[in-house]
Amino acid sequence: MKDIKSLLSSLPSVDEVLKSPSGIQWQEKYSRRHVLQSVREVIDSYRQAIISGKIENAGYHVIHEEIHKKLEDLAEYNLKNVINATGIVIHTNLGRSVLSEAVMQHVKDIATGYSNLEYDIEKGVRGKRYSHIQSLTNQLTGAESCLIVNNNAAAVFVCLNTIAKDREVIVSRGELVEIGGSFRIPDIMKSSGAILKEVGTTNKTHISDYEKALTEHTALLLRVHQSNFRMTGFTQNPSLEELVSISRKFNLPLMFDLGSGCLIDLKPYGIHIEPTVQDVLKAGVDIVTFSGDKLLGGPQGGIIAGKSELIEQISKNPLMRAVRVDKMTLAAYEATLTAYLDEEKAKTTIPTVRMLMENKETIKKRAKKVLLKLKKKANFSIHEMAHIFIASDSSKSGGGALPEIEFMTYAVAVKPYKMSAGALGQKLRVNSPHIIARIQDDMVLLDMRTVQDSEIERMVDGIINALLSQNLA
Ligand SMILES: *Cc1c(COP(=O)(O)O)cnc(C)c1O
Repeated sequence: MKDIKSLLSSLPSVDEVLKSPSGIQWQEKYSRRHVLQSVREVIDSYRQAIISGKIENAGYHVIHEEIHKKLEDLAEYNLKNVINATGIVIHTNLGRSVLSEAVMQHVKDIATGYSNLEYDIEKGVRGKRYSHIQSLTNQLTGAESCLIVNNNAAAVFVCLNTIAKDREVIVSRGELVEIGGSFRIPDIMKSSGAILKEVGTTNKTHISDYEKALTEHTALLLRVHQSNFRMTGFTQNPSLEELVSISRKFNLPLMFDLGSGCLIDLKPYGIHIEPTVQDVLKAGVDIVTFSGDKLLGGPQGGIIAGKSELIEQISKNPLMRAVRVDKMTLAAYEATLTAYLDEEKAKTTIPTVRMLMENKETIKKRAKKVLLKLKKKANFSIHEMAHIFIASDSSKSGGGALPEIEFMTYAVAVKPYKMSAGALGQKLRVNSPHIIARIQDDMVLLDMRTVQDSEIERMVDGIINALLSQNLA
């Protein structure tokens, strides 16, 4: 009992810790709120441990170390950088597109100072937010005019609400898609106020089905990119040309929710099913909507492009204010599109595009580099900890784009001897750097398609640390 009493009195008070040299340093570096919280919690945990007899002597030094650790944890951001070793390039859960340094430089210039966001520098009067990206988008896509909103879901929503509120929109039953759970065509249609008029069947829709459904209540024909699935077998859907021709014949606008917003013709890469925005507009579609951060490789955003008359109408919808983009998105989008002015450069400077198009041999080289570094850096015989080798594999693009394409890739495969692959995968995830890998056949597969060269050093250290910790466990 006496021991406990003297131990308790040997604990420093909160005030003493705050006035100690480390306490003063912490208050300079961290917020006072976090310092106080850490000091109080750690002292309190020591007090509890002494009372319950778990501690027989309390050293100042240990207390300070623990406070410091707690402070670092508290000060860390919740939103963290992770290394994507899944091979899925457009990984919605991991933030979809990666932006280049050049794009971020423009964002930084615009966001860390004032800008001409809505200001006409020449005339010295109020300007237009969307003017900065319009001529570039029109030039690249062949659109007459365009707008950008928060994401493609918002783009579809605001278009439907403007063009078809309380009126009918004809859609093929084969295109009533769900994308990522919360975006479903029937639901978005309903909340926009438009009335869904389904035609055809799940597997077959004919152009005559559209014609038969036309009434004086029809406001719009809508085509939706099937994005994340494909139907094979006994299927049919009218061609875009057929849809354009009935839209012209009956003087009704035709809208295409394109999803990905690909600007580069992928046919030379063996991908024949992804129409570009240019193709779709050239075919005569009146309004096309697409995401900024899928195949396009830019910031999250939804682009609405097409005929000026409709764009003008949409721009006046009061909802535009609710879904408008901020200056950072505009800057990132402008810089991304600028990179597309030279298609060859776009393929190397836009990370999403580069990763998707990256040649298998380049990926293999990266895998070899990682393997070599692992062997070199590990100050233990790595072969005693795990079987590590390069595995040929395939991965998906992700983001609901190109679902039928298997991208050939190489992974660094790690089969740990002293723990399960699941346990290693978990360690790689929670340790810093956070590495997200694939687990397959009791192996951890680190797909080198989505790992940036600048991340290799950190990743190798992370793998070694995770493997080493199996000895401690
Ligand atoms: C992805 C997608 C959407 C939703 O786009 P977000 O930018 O994620 O809001 C809508 N329609 C289609 C066809 C899509 O592929």
